[in-house]
Amino acid sequence: MLIRITPQIILVRPEGKTLYPYSNSLYINDNIKTIIDAGAGGNAYQEIAPDHIELLLLSHYHFDHINGWPFFPRASVYTGKEEALVYSSPEEYFTHTGRFRWRELMGQDKTEKLRSPQDFPDDVPVRPGFQNIKLEGCFSDKQQFNLGQNSIQALRLPGHTKGHYGFYIEEEGLLFSGDLDLAPQGPWYGGESSDVGDLLESIARIIAINPRILVTSHRRVFKKPEDNIIKAVLEYRDIVLEREDRILKVLKHPATLDGIVSAIGDFPGLGRSQYATFYAKMMTHKHLEHMIKTGQVKKLGNSYYQHS
Ligand SMILES: [Zn+2]
Repeated sequence: MLIRITPQIILVRPEGKTLYPYSNSLYINDNIKTIIDAGAGGNAYQEIAPDHIELLLLSHYHFDHINGWPFFPRASVYTGKEEALVYSSPEEYFTHTGRFRWRELMGQDKTEKLRSPQDFPDDVPVRPGFQNIKLEGCFSDKQQFNLGQNSIQALRLPGHTKGHYGFYIEEEGLLFSGDLDLAPQGPWYGGESSDVGDLLESIARIIAINPRILVTSHRRVFKKPEDNIIKAVLEYRDIVLEREDRILKVLKHPATLDGIVSAIGDFPGLGRSQYATFYAKMMTHKHLEHMIKTGQVKKLGNSYYQHS
């Protein structure tokens, strides 16, 4: 489904739910026909003549944002420089995901797939895992793409992943914030390159930009004045801060990672699979990493405790 935001800027919504393996794309029908992210599915892209897209900008490497890359054969593909190697090196891809920690955190090898291959909808053309995508180049923070009438600025918003970017169209006050998505369950930071400190700084950057229109990867369009965007962003941030507080309270007494995860036990939205447990542990590990860095927590052997 297409939702026109301005005469040239169009949200491409997946035909199914805007959840993994799908995400929103933003189509800019300018002199240089441009699309941000490639996860809206083949059915949705039929409405925008994907053969004519000349520029594909990727917010980050996650499967639900890139899986439609084969639909854009003429597009020059650009990604953040921090993740450029993820598309040419399977080892680099594997390192970024953090899946190599599976045995360490789960005590056994992975036996379950997130989804079996036949469960994928027909309009998702590739399957999860390493994608060998030829990049035309990569961008860094504040890099501009001049498309004709519109100009897009790449904004580094790390934390979800190290090379996670948003895209700002200043003339419209429109920010595409990717997986800083205002999901009711809060942000996801369960990958090896996720970082809680970076995530909080990226959220502060969105607040400082104070966008008039906020487009995220998995939700509807937020617009002022109908929506209080800043309030929604602060509530989203507070989910992370409140979790950090709960962890800190648990650590008045020393606890292991597993002990902390079962004591706080609040990762709604992850479900009940092996993956849910793995990512709950990864996200808790990311909080501990952050709190060790800020001096609030110390580690002794396998246990963590609050530093007073
Ligand atoms: Zn993501």
